[in-house]
Amino acid sequence: MRDATMFSIIEKEEQRQKRNIELIASENFVSKEVREAQGSVLTNKYAEGYPGKRYYGGCVHVDEAEELTRQRACELFGAQHANVQPHSGSQANMAVYNTLLEPGDTVMGMDLAAGGHLTHGHPMNFSGTLYNFVPYMVDKETEEIDYDALEKKAMEVKPKLIVAGASAYSRIIDFERFGKIAKACGAYLMVDMAHIAGLVATGLHPSPIPYADFVTTTTHKTLRGPRGGMVFCKEEFAKKLDSKVFPGMQGGPLEHVIAAKGICLYEAMQPEYKEYMQQVLKNVQVMVTGFQKAGFRVVSNGSDNHLLMLDVMSSIGMTGKEAERLLDLAGITVNKNTIPYDTQKPFVTSGIRIGSAAMTSRGFKEAEFEKVTDWIIEVLKAGDEAVCARVKEEVQSLTANYPVEAQI
Ligand code: PLP
Repeated sequence: MRDATMFSIIEKEEQRQKRNIELIASENFVSKEVREAQGSVLTNKYAEGYPGKRYYGGCVHVDEAEELTRQRACELFGAQHANVQPHSGSQANMAVYNTLLEPGDTVMGMDLAAGGHLTHGHPMNFSGTLYNFVPYMVDKETEEIDYDALEKKAMEVKPKLIVAGASAYSRIIDFERFGKIAKACGAYLMVDMAHIAGLVATGLHPSPIPYADFVTTTTHKTLRGPRGGMVFCKEEFAKKLDSKVFPGMQGGPLEHVIAAKGICLYEAMQPEYKEYMQQVLKNVQVMVTGFQKAGFRVVSNGSDNHLLMLDVMSSIGMTGKEAERLLDLAGITVNKNTIPYDTQKPFVTSGIRIGSAAMTSRGFKEAEFEKVTDWIIEVLKAGDEAVCARVKEEVQSLTANYPVEAQI
């Protein structure tokens, strides 16, 4: 019997995704094939363990799917070992911490206000309660990572692990320099490339793989796969890492999601995907130029990746929370976000984070992103719900022409 109530909720969400302009930097629209794999019969199968070493019978085909995904992950990123089982990015990070650390160990991670993620030491997160996280900041003037200050602090603090990578940082991260700093202070280096994995896969951001002991990622952001996580490491850590994922942290792997990860990796190997990622970068540049021309302050004065941080407080005296609300009324979805040295609370914020990956998947190019930028500027400058309502109509007549899935 079909659950009409739940399907009507799903239908409403599909309509919301279709009509709105999605600019949340951590989201994307997957291909039909990725969704097909996620909705496949693989969801029915229990497969605790790893290919060839399962605790259940009947794993012959899911073994094949998982091994293919693992091999593609290693090939695409040039890694020695990959574990494709983590259910999420947070669990990928937890698996690495469990591999390297004891409770109470000292770790350095990027301050959350500067762009770090919850799992990089937030006091309410397992990372912050289990380990002694010491944050590093960005430079107050440039709003970019100050590698000299980081090195100085690392030499004083002597962490066991340094975590590089961020959720809201728009500049190239110098992983080679991070590797040198970790070596100098005797720490391991973990890079969380969740946001930029698609750029790394296509050579549009330097790869962390040669410099880091562990690299974690989500598969659903720029990589444009199903929601999930992966961990890469050198062969010497492979056995320990695998045992910390299963049985250390998870039970049965989600083989339908793993197959969908395999498909997203296959797609990321295609020349069309590199063109997509190049377009993502061009589209961010269009927005940076548009905002700056209109007198808005872009954090760090620009962007090298798929996102930009807009300082709405210093630009027009508006909080990130209010900007998010007004844009929502106009059918444009962004999220409020702290900016470096923010004086507002995390639930209020001085900034918004804007990403181009999702709408580029739907087919938006420079011309559409110019329009989007103009709408955002108009809505924020007007601060008027009637303007939001008018813009929403224009937004919906544009989005109606674009599919809600990646075209590849
Ligand atoms: N790492 C970074 C840098 C992220 O931005 C995120 C999610 O936003 C994660 C990890 C966590 O991923 P998940 O939400 O899948 O747990």
